[in-house]
Amino acid sequence: MQLALRPEDEAFRREVRQFLKESLPRDIAEARAVGVSVSKPLLKRWHKTLYEKGWVAPGWPKAAGGTGWSVTQQHIFQEECAQANAPSLMPFGLSMVGPVIYTFGNDAQKAQHIPGILSGDVWWCQGYSEPGSGSDLASLKTKAVRDGDTYVVNGQKIWTSYAHEADWIFCLVRTDDQSKPQEGISFLLIDMKTPGITVRPLVSIDELHHLNEVFFEDVRVPVANRIGEENKGWTYAKFLLAHERTGIAGVPQSKKAAEELRRIAETERAGDGKRLADDPTFQATLADIEVKLAALEITNLRILAETEKGTSVGVEASVLKILGTEVQQALQTLAVEAIGYYTLASHRDRLEGRGNAPLVGPDHGETIFASYGFGRAASIYGGSNEIQRNVLAKAVLGL
Ligand SMILES: Cc1cc2nc3c(=O)[nH]c(=O)nc-3n(C[C@H](O)[C@H](O)[C@H](O)COP(=O)(O)OP(=O)(O)OC[C@H]3O[C@@H](n4cnc5c(N)ncnc54)[C@H](O)[C@@H]3O)c2cc1C
Repeated sequence: MQLALRPEDEAFRREVRQFLKESLPRDIAEARAVGVSVSKPLLKRWHKTLYEKGWVAPGWPKAAGGTGWSVTQQHIFQEECAQANAPSLMPFGLSMVGPVIYTFGNDAQKAQHIPGILSGDVWWCQGYSEPGSGSDLASLKTKAVRDGDTYVVNGQKIWTSYAHEADWIFCLVRTDDQSKPQEGISFLLIDMKTPGITVRPLVSIDELHHLNEVFFEDVRVPVANRIGEENKGWTYAKFLLAHERTGIAGVPQSKKAAEELRRIAETERAGDGKRLADDPTFQATLADIEVKLAALEITNLRILAETEKGTSVGVEASVLKILGTEVQQALQTLAVEAIGYYTLASHRDRLEGRGNAPLVGPDHGETIFASYGFGRAASIYGGSNEIQRNVLAKAVLGL
């Protein structure tokens, strides 16, 4: 495998770096993010800037309104964004339902939804999981019953990230309960303003509101809002999950976090009063994580090189998901150890943009507990790590 970048890719890196230097506003780069998001107004502003540059959809083909970049260019873009502290954009439109709509949607659906996804004017959320149907998603029960030109939807979704900020939800619903579970599911696009939808917050361990329950009570959805064929939703759902895995290893973000940790260790003190950076246990723990991260980066690049040749990512995504989240969580744990008891201070009001009480502890402590707490979810969402291990056991070990 060729690891050195080609001159044109190096030139592309310089172009991206220059653009970020000139266009990423300071307040956005300095906003402390937990999970995928900084506040909605800031994120919308950054979305718009990328949209105006034509760089908002790095993974989309040109014909659909994307950049048409190669896999290597997408990787370089991700790396430079992480280095510059550019926030990740909301994935639900750009990385999830957008590709489903431009691949399986009809012309009217493309015309209605693609412009808003690209411009960032319309925000989406993902209605897959239900109480009792997470890993075993095909058992979902939210029902859509046909009534002329509409479906009447009843049921409940759970863990719906940012449903409280979304304009539309894409939902898996049961349209046939007589066939095999996978064969009775349809994929619906639903306007969140439709009567009968109730969103209730679920506050997570980081004390913040990212998650929700969404209830559907006799919600009338035009049949025209169904993607593709009735009862074929599982096919589109699986296609979407494959897109969700883009950049799943999170290598650029973890490299940035390791760098930040080295910086924190320059000012924090170990138990004996010496600089944490000189503490042998801290050094050994961080070095161990960085070795794993370096191995993960090479594995990731090797897989990217294969996809550049046209091979699609298969079980390799499971390896990247498991190792990537293990490294992220190890870095978050070490950051908590680095600031010690300052972890206990609650920064909820500041993180939610309310109140400006002085920070308890060092500036870099503001998001450390929130990232550690919310970061536990990384090994659960997008297919839990246990499920990924099952995939590997079957596909690689033949068990
Ligand atoms: C922060 C966060 C954000 C999320 N955002 C969304 C969203 O926006 N939209 C959405 O639809 N969903 C979302 N989810 C839901 C997520 O997809 C599910 O939590 C996930 O699929 C696991 O399902 P579950 O929670 O029902 O756990 P379960 O499936 O009940 O699993 C419980 C435990 O058992 C293990 N387990 C289950 N089955 C097996 C098996 N066969 N073999 C071995 N171990 C097994 C799991 O690994 C897990 O540890 C989010 C979840 C989190 C935590």
